[in-house]
Amino acid sequence: MKIQVVESAVGQSAQHQFAVSYLINDTVAIDAGCIGFMYPIARQRQLSHVVLSHSHFDHISSLPVFLENVYRTTGVPVVLCAGEETRRAVESHIFNDRIWPDLVRIAQTEAPFFTWQTLREFETFLIGGLSITPIPLDHLIPTFGFLVDDGSSAVAIVSDTAPVTQAWDFLNRQPNLNAVFLELSFPESMAGLAEHTMHLTPSTFVREQAKLKKDVSWFAVHLKSTLRAEILGDFSAISDSPVVVAEPGAEYSF
Ligand SMILES: [Zn+2]
Ligand SMILES: [Zn+2]
Repeated sequence: MKIQVVESAVGQSAQHQFAVSYLINDTVAIDAGCIGFMYPIARQRQLSHVVLSHSHFDHISSLPVFLENVYRTTGVPVVLCAGEETRRAVESHIFNDRIWPDLVRIAQTEAPFFTWQTLREFETFLIGGLSITPIPLDHLIPTFGFLVDDGSSAVAIVSDTAPVTQAWDFLNRQPNLNAVFLELSFPESMAGLAEHTMHLTPSTFVREQAKLKKDVSWFAVHLKSTLRAEILGDFSAISDSPVVVAEPGAEYSF
């Protein structure tokens, strides 16, 4: 399985993850923070499914542009996979004619821009050779992490979340688990903000790692861009094993 953190900036900011999307095998995207800006557009048109974790803006911000870029008047439209709350939020707050045209209403008379597939917690669904399981997380709004399993290896993408228990219990039972992409949003100096916005700091990240009794590769994601140096400094002060930040543009194989 191939996973790429999609770039959301260029130049000196290229290492920053301003917006959030991951590509799985070039055909499935987890989240739509920046897929609408991927170059060339042919890369966007390779995507058959976009799986949404939740409706926060950094995870859906390029969705309208993406849907316009991949729109075809014939053929099968892209499938958006999301929980019911995420679907409702996108439809009522984005596709409402004020922020973006109401694509649901327009699809009554024109070729559809997308179809929805509703996700439910721990109900595995299949896309091509991948089985994907939504894992409920603890965030400001209903949010899923995802276990992506190709039959020989599995990767968990766990973002955005406060500390959780059930997700690690589930991942501890996965025989194929090779890697975890876990959010690391704030430094310790902003532990209060992390708590209020339901994210992790280095100390809570390390405590989450200890809940997984498996030898896997860990990748930190979702670092607040301007706080990256402070977050990494905090991490090395409390942990002997250095944290690996998943770099936008890099391709990871499992
Ligand atoms: Zn969020
Ligand atoms: Zn986020």
